[in-house]
Amino acid sequence: MRDDILATAREQVLERGEPLDEAQVLAVLQLPDERVPEALELAHEVRMRWCGPAVEVEGIVSIKTGGCPEDCHFCSQSGRFETPVRAVRLDIPSLVRAAHETAASGATEFCLVAAVRGPDERLMTQVSEAVAAIQAEVEINLACSLGILTRAQAEELAALGVHRYNHNLETARSRFPQVVTTHTWEERMDTLALVRELGMEVCCGGIVGMGETLEQRAEFAAQLSEIRPDEVPLNFLDPRPGTPFAELSVLDARDALRAIAAFRLALPLTVLRFAGGRELTLGDLGTRDGMLGGINAMIVGNYLTTLGRSPEQDLALLTELSMPVKALSETL
Ligand code: SF4
Repeated sequence: MRDDILATAREQVLERGEPLDEAQVLAVLQLPDERVPEALELAHEVRMRWCGPAVEVEGIVSIKTGGCPEDCHFCSQSGRFETPVRAVRLDIPSLVRAAHETAASGATEFCLVAAVRGPDERLMTQVSEAVAAIQAEVEINLACSLGILTRAQAEELAALGVHRYNHNLETARSRFPQVVTTHTWEERMDTLALVRELGMEVCCGGIVGMGETLEQRAEFAAQLSEIRPDEVPLNFLDPRPGTPFAELSVLDARDALRAIAAFRLALPLTVLRFAGGRELTLGDLGTRDGMLGGINAMIVGNYLTTLGRSPEQDLALLTELSMPVKALSETL
């Protein structure tokens, strides 16, 4: 079958390391159910060939939770919606303790996350103190996720030695205005450009299952592929009570698996990380399916506002799948 998308992907992505384009990603997203295992198997082969068997393990901690002025319709941390998330800030000793615990679980990245449009002076001070305190005590790469940055702020983070910066585009450019109205997709792109220019690694992903069409899902994968992020966190919508997306249905497990395979085939060289929503969409078995379907990074422990699986469960699974945890020396 010369026109078969998986045969094409085998040749183009597996053999040559060239990503699928938007139309090709769409074809994967439209595969019938019975071909999903084949797509996942190919995505796994691509990951093994171009990224290797190691799995990057990461920890995240929220340094400022809730009360965000933005209106991202999926987010329980927006101060504009009535959600059960309370506004809290963590102090420096707690952050250092969390970094120690994260490193002890084998993680190589520790990401400081704040629910803000962008950092103010107080937050930048808190981050620089936290980064210095953690660097003094814990051997781990530091990442930050602090929203939209000015050039001066990006320069400050790079000078502090922040290894990677997370800023998600969240969804396709054509869908973004229905998901966020308080800032634009282009503003997010500007921050990503600054991060890259200043030499930090780019972590950029989003959420699948926010009412986008399959065409928009493919558009998003292609837009990410163009940016060539070092890491892509792939989330599935977990409809949180009180948010405008509370009533959206949880993505069908088959569609989630199709998305995992399609995103890997669009991003053959990228660290592709399971982020939030995987337990809800795929159940406990989903982690295994994903790790055998192109995913090669995971967050251990709790997500920002919902509970994830225990690190022991995830790490035991990696041992069972003969996938070593990536060592810190490989990530420097
Ligand atoms: S900017 Fe971040 S924290 Fe704020 S509402 Fe959007 S996703 Fe949530």
